[in-house]
Amino acid sequence: MVARASVPILLLTGFLGSGKTSLLARWLKAPEFAGAMAIVNELGEVGIDDRLVESSSDAPLLLDNGCACCAAGEDLTATLERLFWDRLHRKIPKFSWVLIETTGIADPGPILERLATHALVAERYHVEGVVAAFDARLGAAQLARHPECARQLKAARVVVITKTDIAGEVELAAARAAIAGVREDARVLTSSRADLSAAAMIAALAQSAPRPAADNGLRAEHTARVSTAFAAVPGVVTAAALTSAFGAVMDTYEAGLLRLKGIVRLAPDGALNMAQALPGVGVEISLLPARPGAPAPCGFTIIAQDVAAQTIADAVVARLAASRPLAYRNTG
Ligand SMILES: [Zn+2]
Repeated sequence: MVARASVPILLLTGFLGSGKTSLLARWLKAPEFAGAMAIVNELGEVGIDDRLVESSSDAPLLLDNGCACCAAGEDLTATLERLFWDRLHRKIPKFSWVLIETTGIADPGPILERLATHALVAERYHVEGVVAAFDARLGAAQLARHPECARQLKAARVVVITKTDIAGEVELAAARAAIAGVREDARVLTSSRADLSAAAMIAALAQSAPRPAADNGLRAEHTARVSTAFAAVPGVVTAAALTSAFGAVMDTYEAGLLRLKGIVRLAPDGALNMAQALPGVGVEISLLPARPGAPAPCGFTIIAQDVAAQTIADAVVARLAASRPLAYRNTG
C-alpha cells in the first residue's frame, strides 16, 4: 500500500458572534496555514463573514445553503470532494490544510460524523482538531441558553476565550468556570482582538486530550426553531439611525435575536461598513476594506430563534425608513 496524502482539516466552531471569523482571518495569514483553503459556512442568503476574511490565495469558499450540521451537510462533503478533484486535475494549487468555519449554531457532532463516513473525504482528509471560540463576556449566558453552545465545547479539543480585552476579571473567571462545567479537560487559551497565533493554537491542539466519545444524546434540532432573513438596505444611512434602529430591535426581540449583521453604506460618503448588533453589548460599526469586484448588496442578515427572522428584518427596514430623509436616502 502506498500511503496517500491526507489533508488535515481544522474545524473552527463557536457560537454566533464569538469571534470565529476574526480568528480565521488571523490564522489564514500565518505561515503555518500558508496554502490553506478556507470554507466558511454561514446562515443566510448573503455571505458577509467571507468578505471579512482575506486568505493568502483566494477568498474563502462560502457554504450558504444552510447549516452544515443539518441542512447543508452534503454541501460540505461535496465541496471537499470537488476540491480534491480540482487539485487532482490541477485546476487549483496544492493545498496544505482546510479550515472550516461552522455556523454559529452548528453542532459539530454531525459534521464530524459526515466527514468520517463519506468515503472519499474520509480517505483524503482527516480532522486534525476542533477548536471552539467562546466569548469572554457573553459565552456563559449563551451556554446556559443554547444547547448548541455546549455541543461545540464538547466537540472541541481546544477552547479559545475571545475578546478578553473587553472582559473584566470576573467575566473571564465566569467564562472559565462555564467551560470547565462542560469540559473539565479542555485546553483553554485566551485571545484579545484575535491575537492568538496559529502556532499557539496548533501547539495546544497537539498537547490536548482527544475529544471524548461522541455525545449521542438528543441533537439540537435548531432547524425548526431558527430562521434567517435578509433586510435589504440599498440607501445611505447615518450611524445614528443605524444605532437607533438596531437598539430598538434588540430591545424588542432580545431573546430571539441571534444575529443582526450586515453591510451598509454609511453617510456622509457612502463608504461600505460592517455593522452588527451585539445583544447585551451594543452596536458595532467598522469600515470594510475596499475590495475589487462587484459592489456589495447592502443589507443585514438576521438569524432568529423562536421568532420569525422576517419580522425582525421588516422592523429594521421600517425603522431606517422612518428616519428618512435626514438619515436615510434611497439611492435607488
Ligand atoms: Zn445545523
